[in-house]
Amino acid sequence: MNTLVIGFDMDGVIIDSDDFTPEGWIVEAFMKTLRDFGIPATEENAKRLYISNLRRDGDEFCAQFGIPDIETLWAQRERNYLNGKLTAIASGRVAPFPDIDVLESLAREYPLGIVSNSPQEIVDLVVKKFSLDRLFRVWLGRGHRWDELATAKPAPDMLRRMLAVIGVDRGYFIGDQQDDVIAARAAGLVPILIDRNGEQGDITSLNELPEFIAHHERVQQK
Ligand SMILES: [Mg+2]
Repeated sequence: MNTLVIGFDMDGVIIDSDDFTPEGWIVEAFMKTLRDFGIPATEENAKRLYISNLRRDGDEFCAQFGIPDIETLWAQRERNYLNGKLTAIASGRVAPFPDIDVLESLAREYPLGIVSNSPQEIVDLVVKKFSLDRLFRVWLGRGHRWDELATAKPAPDMLRRMLAVIGVDRGYFIGDQQDDVIAARAAGLVPILIDRNGEQGDITSLNELPEFIAHHERVQQK
């Protein structure tokens, strides 16, 4: 019995969903949010709706455009984001990366989990549509409310929940963002950064995972 878990971020790791092109679903959802509030639908304003930017200057953004509070802005942004993403997944514009095939063999050796900053119903849809329940023991997404973002990554809360659900206290977490690395470390997991462009990650493809983990485990045991 193995006493470690291998956790995965979802967007950019399991599914190819981070489409930030001007025609992509993300920019469109943000542009719609701007239009809903009568704010000029510029690329610059759309960028201010990224979670990291809202955390930093969301209150200032609301004050500038006469929005009562960040919760009001967030609720509308979340509605448009959810609709855009559900449609993109349902229509087949979002698909898993081919290298998730390697998870078939990993899943026979270790319990696997998904911990995503996407809303839970998006994670549920992805797991269902691509039959990922055969690979993953648990899949966790965030809640919808603005205050629930406080427990999304880079906070370690969701990763700790994964550990509790599976009943282990060590393992690895594979992500494509610095927030994944920070959350993993804070939860006591070994972070593995994937950079599919091969510039600054620990791995460039999920195919490198079995060897990376086996090597790390050998070093640990010495
Ligand atoms: Mg990601």
